[in-house]
Amino acid sequence: MILYIEKDVLDYPQTEKIISLFPSASKVWIKNYKNIFDKSIPLHQEKSLIIAKSRWSAIWKTPDNYWHTPNTYFFKTSLNCVFDCAYCYLKWAFKNDMQVYFVNYEDIKREITNLVISSGVERSFEETNNETRKNNVISKEQISPLQSKWQIFNTINKNGKIHFKDPETSSGWQSPNIWCQEKNSTLWFYSSDYSDILWSNKISWFLSEFVPFFEKFEGVMMEVRSKSTNIKDILDLWFVPKNTEFAFSLNPQILIEKYEKWTPNLDDRIETINKLINLWYKVWLRFLPLLPIKDYKNIYGEFVAYIKERIDLEKVHSSFASWLLYTKEDYNEILKKYPRLDILYRLKQENDNFVRCDRDARDFFYNLFHDLDENCMICMDD
Ligand code: SF4
Repeated sequence: MILYIEKDVLDYPQTEKIISLFPSASKVWIKNYKNIFDKSIPLHQEKSLIIAKSRWSAIWKTPDNYWHTPNTYFFKTSLNCVFDCAYCYLKWAFKNDMQVYFVNYEDIKREITNLVISSGVERSFEETNNETRKNNVISKEQISPLQSKWQIFNTINKNGKIHFKDPETSSGWQSPNIWCQEKNSTLWFYSSDYSDILWSNKISWFLSEFVPFFEKFEGVMMEVRSKSTNIKDILDLWFVPKNTEFAFSLNPQILIEKYEKWTPNLDDRIETINKLINLWYKVWLRFLPLLPIKDYKNIYGEFVAYIKERIDLEKVHSSFASWLLYTKEDYNEILKKYPRLDILYRLKQENDNFVRCDRDARDFFYNLFHDLDENCMICMDD
């Protein structure tokens, strides 16, 4: 194992934490991660990761009409993913698959704070935050081991009440203010567009840094996207955040096996979702990318029936569906790199700048997922 470490990040606490995870790794001191990351590394290269500083803006605006509200942004704290989805745009976005962890979290948080303040939605509710967190805290005695946590909450749910005990005052069960009012003005920050942040939390400690950070704000939400089932790190936060939504991507098992290499299987993802929604975490179901493979109508029809049967959709915060979609430029790039990838040949180029499944498939997917959830947000392009 090789750790490439920028000299500039030596003193960051995050750097120390990552180094401590790999005590026998060789360390190579570098000036700028791009000197390595932007080069094609041969496949036989020893396993490695890069610890670096984010020197440019970590935040960028999403395209118009992108999901929740008009005020949505991506932000990045790491690059590259351990999973290997055949359709993933990371395959051609970067020259190699080394993972990069940016460790100057305080700079990134400052940038987010400035954006929140300048947007006008921010009403820095430090006091509200303290109160809300206090009411949502779960005492360690109550939920350790994890198994007992499920039992406690399942019992409460059967009684139709969702209460958490305040461990500081032990003053009985209190109703937490879990659900945040989401108005059109809510500012959304999407993490993990360049990595699977829940999986990589083992190395990045992203959740314990950024979930409490986002609790400071009113009218601001963060979304953590993942295919990982690393639920332990979410539960280890010891509170149910009001400003973070956990979004899990789902696809039929047959497609997971064929196109989503090394990702958890469908049943494990469903189990993770169910554990979280039964604890009243905000969970977003992301049905994507919908793939117009042979016999897709039957495969997706059965998949949706399976989801209905296995997940209590009443407890799901929101859902989203999107077919596989590339810009023409990206499509040509991936086709050049993976000319034998069958799903690419099932997409059509239309009169705009996008390549996607045909109208018949889009109508089918649209009706199917609206039938599953009438509020399901469907891909931005149609
Ligand atoms: S999990 Fe997401 S980021 Fe990772 S390879 Fe698959 S599509 Fe790409």
